[in-house]
Amino acid sequence: MDNMDKYFALLKEGGADLTLTIKTDTIQTAAWTIYRCKYGCNTYGKSHCCPPNCPTWNETQEMINCFQYGILFRCHEMSIVTPLAVKVARELFLDDYYKVIAFGSGPCKKCQKCNPNNCNFPDKTVPAMEACGIDVFGTVRNNGIEIHTLREKGQVQNHFGLLLVE
Ligand code: SF4
Repeated sequence: MDNMDKYFALLKEGGADLTLTIKTDTIQTAAWTIYRCKYGCNTYGKSHCCPPNCPTWNETQEMINCFQYGILFRCHEMSIVTPLAVKVARELFLDDYYKVIAFGSGPCKKCQKCNPNNCNFPDKTVPAMEACGIDVFGTVRNNGIEIHTLREKGQVQNHFGLLLVE
C-alpha cells in the first residue's frame, strides 16, 4: 500500500489518537450484527444511515472484497468519527484514490430530524461500521488493539472509523 502518512496526520489533527493500515481480511462482518440494531437501538429504521437503509452485512462484505487494504482509526468521542472519516475520504479521493469509501461510528446526528428515505446531506455523512454489519470489536481485536465493553459511566470510550482505500 502507498504511504498514508498524510492521511494519518489529517486523522490525528481531527482527533484520532490511533491510526493504522490494516488488511481487509482482518475485517469481520457478521449476520448477528443486525439483531443488535433492530432490538437494541432506537434509530433503527429512522435514519438514512441506519439499517435497513444502509448496506447489509453481506453487501458490505462484497464491498470489502473489492479492497486489499484499509485505514482503521480510533477516537475517544463518537461524534467526531463520522465527519472525520468523510473529510479524510474526500482528501483521498481528490488525491486520486478514486475507490475510497468511508465508514463512521454511531447514528448520524447531522439533522435534527433525519430523512430516512433521502439523505439531506449525502456528501457529508456515511453509515457507521456497525450499522453496515461490521463486527467492530472483532475487527479491532484482529488488529491487536484492546477493546472491551464498558460498565461504568465516565470510562474512556473507544470509537472506530474505517476507510477502504487502494
Ligand atoms: S445528514 Fe441528515 S438526513 Fe442524512 S443521514 Fe444524517 S441526519 Fe439523516
